[in-house]
Amino acid sequence: MRPAFLPRLVNSPFGDPGLYLSFAFQRQAVLFDAGDLSALSSRDILKIDNIFISHTHMDHFCGFDQVLRVSLGRNKRIQVFGPDGFISHLSSKLSAYQWNLVDNFNDNLTLVATEITDSCMKTQTFHCRDGFIARDVPLESPFTGILLETPVFNVTAAILDHQIPCLAFSLRERFHVNILKPALTDLGLRPGPWLKTFKDDLFCKRPPETIIEIPASHTTASPKIFSLDELTRKIVRITAGQQVTYVTDAGFTATNQARIIALSDGADHLFIEAAFLDNDRRIAEKKHHLTARQAGYLAARASVKKYTVFHFSPRYSDRADDIYHEARAAFLAGC
Ligand SMILES: [Zn+2]
Repeated sequence: MRPAFLPRLVNSPFGDPGLYLSFAFQRQAVLFDAGDLSALSSRDILKIDNIFISHTHMDHFCGFDQVLRVSLGRNKRIQVFGPDGFISHLSSKLSAYQWNLVDNFNDNLTLVATEITDSCMKTQTFHCRDGFIARDVPLESPFTGILLETPVFNVTAAILDHQIPCLAFSLRERFHVNILKPALTDLGLRPGPWLKTFKDDLFCKRPPETIIEIPASHTTASPKIFSLDELTRKIVRITAGQQVTYVTDAGFTATNQARIIALSDGADHLFIEAAFLDNDRRIAEKKHHLTARQAGYLAARASVKKYTVFHFSPRYSDRADDIYHEARAAFLAGC
């Protein structure tokens, strides 16, 4: 299966947390946490249209300023999600700057902030042209676990306890469209931009009789025309969508364990913090973090296909291998 999106940690495991998920064939990316983002290029940052902040400790939120700075003056809408109190934290960040020159911008950057509690999602919009002062009453809707739903993917969240609420996230492709290369060749078709349009039609559930026109530049002869249904039957195999889960800054409590396992159940790739070695689990407990053994155990319990540990305490700067080994041993043993 050719993955639809590619997750990568922004920094080394000792650096600030941040997971950048770029979408194949699209100028679109999602960001889980925004610690130091200086490793991302402006080009990478401009692809981001949805940001999910686990909690607003500095190492998870300070990089938001960089997104703001790069995006200013552009006609762009960025959705930002965070835990209880997030709208006030974002609003305070925005009000730390003076915005008297924003009238010079022709384009309007809009930030749509949503905070999540156990039962409720509250959304507030901030426009650059208003100096990011919120004018409207926040909109409220029930929280059912789903933060964002697009035709291609959704993002769900679990609320964890880090002494303060901390969100963990799962991004799931709704289904995966595999293009059967031999079938493509048999029909005399070549990949091209038409394939993206065709996939969009599938994700948007367009009617089966929708016409797909493939230009001569991407066939072996003249332009070809198919119905959506006919072409799907000939060149597509639908399989389960890809799932990436991101878990950080959580104590090893019974409730956190149950929520982490449920959220990451069967994930293709789990990114999970391993802040401490298990010898130091008392410190981990006091600081509401996971140890490498606990991270490996949770990955095993959730039957994930692959995991990556990150967010190591600097005290282990010369012992990274010990963290990897401890997590691996727990993952293989399942305990
Ligand atoms: Zn942290």
